[in-house]
Amino acid sequence: MLRTRLRLVARTHVSGAQAPAEIKAILLDIEGTTTPIRFVYDVLFPYARTHLGQHIEQHASSPDYERLFDALREEHASDVAAGGSVPGSWVDAPRASRLASVAAYCSWLMDRDRKSTMLKALQGKVWEAGYISGELVGEVFPDVPAAFERWHVRRLPVGIFSSGSVLAQQLLFRYSSAGDLSGFVDWYFDTAIGAKIESVSYRRIAESIEIGTDRVLFVSDATRELDAARTAGMHTRLAVRPGNLSSHEGGFPVIHTFDEIA
Ligand SMILES: [Mg+2]
Repeated sequence: MLRTRLRLVARTHVSGAQAPAEIKAILLDIEGTTTPIRFVYDVLFPYARTHLGQHIEQHASSPDYERLFDALREEHASDVAAGGSVPGSWVDAPRASRLASVAAYCSWLMDRDRKSTMLKALQGKVWEAGYISGELVGEVFPDVPAAFERWHVRRLPVGIFSSGSVLAQQLLFRYSSAGDLSGFVDWYFDTAIGAKIESVSYRRIAESIEIGTDRVLFVSDATRELDAARTAGMHTRLAVRPGNLSSHEGGFPVIHTFDEIA
């Protein structure tokens, strides 16, 4: 009887002690993970709000922007149909009224923190101009550049998964406070692949980078995101950074800097 139990324990022990699958890729959130949350709320969003009107006036003649404005007009129409408190009516002519309609509607969307794809596209263009002019500099935590280099040397590819648009993500790392870090980032994903709190998004990312979920380490400050990634089979770390709202629910291993990621 005792022997049987020992054997059972031994067998259980062996299967439980299987080495965890080797990590083949690192997937990172931005806000609260690579970058202080306040950079997004105190720098990026106010910058877009302040410069949007002037920016659309300067670029309104480009066909790119025309397409964006048309898409915003459609979005405005569906908001009107839904009976919300949408600002005024959309006016296309004269041109100045059309631009004013775009600006007023964008401002209304920003007030509501609406996840509008068209608004994000327009904000991305405003930020791009700001980064290029040097008015904006992408902020990363001090340990981030060294970690990128370390992972690069170890041939560990790095992906980003953030609710900001891919363009906004690329700009932040291209024009970062530590110089151009874009060479260290292999993949960018935004919510076009799925919501950050849905496990299917993490499975799609793994498929897209052709690495099994059990070989990816996802780092985020949001336990709901970590929960979704863990459900998909990814390894997880909870980033506890200055300025984060720390919730430690879920029992995720905690890191304070990327130096702690072996
Ligand atoms: Mg975050």
